[in-house]
Amino acid sequence: MREKLEKPVAVTRSSLPPLEEYVEMLKPLWDSAWLTNMGDYHEEFRRQLMEYLKAEHLELFVNGHMALELAVQALELTGEVITTPFSFASTTHAIVRNGLTPVFCDINSYDYTLDVSLIERLITEKTSAIVPVHVYGNLCDVEAIQEIADRHHLKVIYDAAHTFGEELDGQGVAGFGDVSMFSFHATKVFHSIEGGAVSYRDLRMGERLYQLKNFGIMDSETVEYVGANGKMNEFQAAMGLCNLRHVDVEIEKRKKLAARYQERLSGVRGIRLCRRNPRVKMNYAYMPVVFDGYKKNRDQIFHELARHNIHARKYFYPCINSYACYRGRFDEHETPVAAGISRQVLTLPLYADLDPAVVDMVCDIILE
Ligand SMILES: *Cc1c(COP(=O)(O)O)cnc(C)c1O
Repeated sequence: MREKLEKPVAVTRSSLPPLEEYVEMLKPLWDSAWLTNMGDYHEEFRRQLMEYLKAEHLELFVNGHMALELAVQALELTGEVITTPFSFASTTHAIVRNGLTPVFCDINSYDYTLDVSLIERLITEKTSAIVPVHVYGNLCDVEAIQEIADRHHLKVIYDAAHTFGEELDGQGVAGFGDVSMFSFHATKVFHSIEGGAVSYRDLRMGERLYQLKNFGIMDSETVEYVGANGKMNEFQAAMGLCNLRHVDVEIEKRKKLAARYQERLSGVRGIRLCRRNPRVKMNYAYMPVVFDGYKKNRDQIFHELARHNIHARKYFYPCINSYACYRGRFDEHETPVAAGISRQVLTLPLYADLDPAVVDMVCDIILE
């Protein structure tokens, strides 16, 4: 029988720059004693990110959730917002915490993003926006979604937490929709410990986002909005600046590991991998595998891997519309594809410094 790994392997592991590199960045902070409130690193990070993401406009936040919640607030939406139940809690929470009603649209079964053929039948006179998610770094059908939004005068807010640095035909994902939210949480492809950003199209959004993350303060004597505290601090920005120097190498390493998984697991009956869009430059954020009619089910594989000290993740399970906090308000049965995938999907360990031998071991365990 195969040996259990001595050290546990988690689904991801935060990338860190060489310690000296980060320490070097901290020295100026000890001189200036300017630790937060849009300091020099904040500005430098913002500038470099705009370039990297090919974003026309960008505002930084303390985390991705705050970025999304305040972006929704900045758009002054009302009524209903169409979104996906197949995402992280943050997506729907950002809608509900703004006093809006989420309306769940099902996903397609090949890349798990919104099924665009189902959106229009959910639009009512109360609908004000669509909040799609680029799940696992798979880009939504941005063209179809924009066309629907234009036809019905709806805003589009992308949860782009999984798509750092991705491009469609050479265009940065930051350019899609009215706004896009990025997360720089420690578990993401690129991180600033915690952190987030909103890219936006309309210049007026920038001013509003800036004020909303700083309590709605206009100047020392005027508070215009009921804002929050969503500011990114200098330690976060410094980490972001360090990690930005290494992110391309990290993505390249991820790509190799993903290819190894792909090679071992594709073409196996009952195992489904994501369909890749050749127009997209991917970041290889996740390695989702769907077990549909395979000899073992998802939960059996999950436990088998755990027995070997390899900890895959049921991501996303459960669907948001079956969360305890939304009980009685929504029904998972209304989105059968999402409900089904959430019971069949497992994201396998994938991070830049993952040992390729572990990838092989994971595949062996799955296949035997
Ligand atoms: C990580 C994540 C968020 C929230 O980002 P944080 O930076 O952790 O607040 C939102 N949506 C999705 C899909 C995510 O994966």
